Amino acid sequence: MNENRPEFEGAQPLRITCTGKMGPVPEGFAAAECIVCLRLITTGQYFTTLPVGCGDNPENRSRARMGAPFPIVFRAAHFACVTGDESESMLSIV
Ligand SMILES: [Zn+2]
Repeated sequence: MNENRPEFEGAQPLRITCTGKMGPVPEGFAAAECIVCLRLITTGQYFTTLPVGCGDNPENRSRARMGAPFPIVFRAAHFACVTGDESESMLSIV
């Protein structure tokens, strides 16, 4: 029971599928943009990748439309932005 947010009573927690915790990003690696917060994933931060779709390949798009298996495009995100786990993220939340 959630007394503060009754609209969530009985709701199941959202489970987001990601590729697991990776990192920390070593020094010298090019920074990538987190697809969740749009800030850079930089040296020392932990990250994961999320499946986002079939991409722009026409054959893969066709397979996706037909419900057939296709290679999945993954994009990087801060681990904290996906899971809420800030324990080692070095991500400043303001
Ligand atoms: Zn982020």
